[in-house]
Amino acid sequence: MSANENNESRLVVVSNRLPFTLKRAGDGWRTERSAGGLATAMEPILKASRGLWVGWSGDSSGTDDPKRQAVLARWEERHGYHSVELPAEMARGFYEGYSNQTIWPLFHYFPAILKFAPEDWRAYCEANLRFRDALLKVLRPGDLVWIHDYQLMMLPRFLRADLPEARIGFFLHIPFPSASVFRLLPRREELLQGLLGADYLAFHTYGYLQNFRASTLRVLGLDSHMDRIEVGGRTARLEALPIGIAPDEFTKLLDDKETKRRLAEMRERFKDRHLLLSVDRLDYTKGIPERLHTFRRLLSTHPNLRGRVVLVQVAVPSREQVPMYNRLRHDVDKLVGRINGEFSTPDWTPVVYIRRNIPRPELVALYAAADLAWVTPLRDGLNLVAKEYVACQKDGAGVLVLSEFAGAAAEMGEAFLVNPYDEEKTAETIARSLSLPESERRERMSALYRRVERNNVFDWSRRFVENLRAAAESRAERGGESPRELPVEQFVNSYREARARRLMLDYDGTLVAYANRPREAVPPPDLAPLLARLASNPANVVALVSGRSRRDLEEWFGDAEGLWLAAEHGAIMRSPKTRTWELYRANYSDSWKSQIVPVLEHFVNRTPGSLIEEKEFSLVWHYRMSDPVFGEWLANELVATLEGMLSETELRAYRGNKTVEVKLLWANKGEVLARLARADADPAFCLAAGDDRTDEDLFAQLPEDAWTVHVGTTRTRARFFVPSHAEMLALLRQLADADTREAAAASGASDGAKI
Ligand code: UDP
Repeated sequence: MSANENNESRLVVVSNRLPFTLKRAGDGWRTERSAGGLATAMEPILKASRGLWVGWSGDSSGTDDPKRQAVLARWEERHGYHSVELPAEMARGFYEGYSNQTIWPLFHYFPAILKFAPEDWRAYCEANLRFRDALLKVLRPGDLVWIHDYQLMMLPRFLRADLPEARIGFFLHIPFPSASVFRLLPRREELLQGLLGADYLAFHTYGYLQNFRASTLRVLGLDSHMDRIEVGGRTARLEALPIGIAPDEFTKLLDDKETKRRLAEMRERFKDRHLLLSVDRLDYTKGIPERLHTFRRLLSTHPNLRGRVVLVQVAVPSREQVPMYNRLRHDVDKLVGRINGEFSTPDWTPVVYIRRNIPRPELVALYAAADLAWVTPLRDGLNLVAKEYVACQKDGAGVLVLSEFAGAAAEMGEAFLVNPYDEEKTAETIARSLSLPESERRERMSALYRRVERNNVFDWSRRFVENLRAAAESRAERGGESPRELPVEQFVNSYREARARRLMLDYDGTLVAYANRPREAVPPPDLAPLLARLASNPANVVALVSGRSRRDLEEWFGDAEGLWLAAEHGAIMRSPKTRTWELYRANYSDSWKSQIVPVLEHFVNRTPGSLIEEKEFSLVWHYRMSDPVFGEWLANELVATLEGMLSETELRAYRGNKTVEVKLLWANKGEVLARLARADADPAFCLAAGDDRTDEDLFAQLPEDAWTVHVGTTRTRARFFVPSHAEMLALLRQLADADTREAAAASGASDGAKI
């Protein structure tokens, strides 16, 4: 991060396109405003924080031209808009390729037209890296980075890798599809990892958020909560936060002279007729052909409506470089021609088709004049047109017919919701809503209007920034993401200086290597004596905290004097004094196992080399000997299957190291700590060492200054790591040797005193 004396927190917006687009004009350049309303949403909050915007100018040519550079320098100086340069070929693969022919169709549930080229994926990553480089040049400590949309899904991770402390938020403007659809995406793992670099991820609806959670579970095997997901030692916050509009920008225009003139003209022109209005980008997700088919059906089945309804379809040209969009344009042209040819009369044309961008005053006049807005995308992240129509019907009695597959449907309950694939029922809904009494129409519209007014775009951006700030601050309070390699000398010194110490050690993967079958991972002969040596120091409380059964622990460590044993992740514990096992919960019944065993058996049958281990309080599916890729894939499937089955019970399914374990919610290693704390006071030196997910529960509950040590190099919330169990054993030997030396020195001193 570039050093800067000014430490205030600015908002840095990042999106594919800047609010300005660069265009050639003769032998010079001119600036055009870009399409889309994001600039309106961002501008007030950007100004307030004296923030910046980083994005592409829309042009890749003439980068050496001083005139071009001068225009871009002006953008920077006057507006804080920083342009990211993308070479033409990279821009094509990134934008027209992976963004718009891979992610876009799939996320809108059109897998059949997904196209994937590995070189497009590379261009996508390279472009995201260019955005990262542009950010690295401008970011100051404390800045809030808000990344927008599906073109930049790798950016959070890329940025985090270079700036672990960066405060990063991401908003997805398109749907997040269900996990079964998302799984089809080539490079799905990378894309999820890319997003998880953020501190805060927001979506339009809870449905999308749930789909995202299901996908991280399915694809990456990551558990999550409704509002957060733990990635290594970091928490990414999750939220549903639907975007709004700036209602004033529309309502203000209702009083504009030009708008009024257009409105009067339209009212005259469509007098005695119902005006139905659709406004879309010319995109296959918007369901324009389906709507035209439905309109044709409406005219066929309701002859009384002929001559009495007009459909005005505004279609704004879009992505014309992508072949699919050209095909759509031809299809729509043909369909409009067919309907008009079939039904027109000398004084009535059923479909008025406008294929161009229309000026805002004209759009507002149309919204105000329309008796019904027919907003029926096949899939849409949110759909702003629905909200804009409502804003322009402030005192109106218009009807909103809305697709249930638009994100906006989740918050516009007073609209008439339809399934756009069901032409017959949609046509019926249109016909019925046209004959509704005015009072009902007004009632519905005013409820919609109040919500559109209240949940406006300024409220949306303010809440996003507040939530991002809070998420980043709580991460900063919990410390950085990556654990440091354990500083051995400091560690041993801290042990020596402490008068009271607690050591909590996991077994598999921490003190011994994993074996193919659990029973084969027997401890080396010197391990039990080593632990007993440590436990023999009266200053020490030493606990073996393992997922193993009590039978295994007793057989291997039962004779180690002074050692606490916690079996099955702490469901049951043995104190060194009483040497009896104490169950964590009374009234435990294992009747649940009979329901889960068949599910696990089904997976054993499908996965050669996998096996079931039955413990007293849990069931474990082991797949260490299976094909690794197939095993991982099935493990995710199994967790997803079990998650649904177990949601109402006190059982949960957890991914371990090549295992899926079904165990009791309350049997976790964090609980062991509570029980040890009851047995002795808080020690000055506290060590917790472990290698898998179950150990993270323990790390999470320990104070900041505890020595939490992760064995291995995978992600963790521990403060430190050591590379393998061999180093861990060597460390424990050093601690035991330090005790021996201290004892020898003490006895030498007391011998000396005797003399
Ligand atoms: N719009 C436009 N030019 C037009 C007609 C409409 O720019 O000629 C705007 C419209 O006001 C709305 C946006 O295009 O703000 C469409 O947003 P929506 O969320 O409905 O769909 P998207 O295009 O983002 O998929």
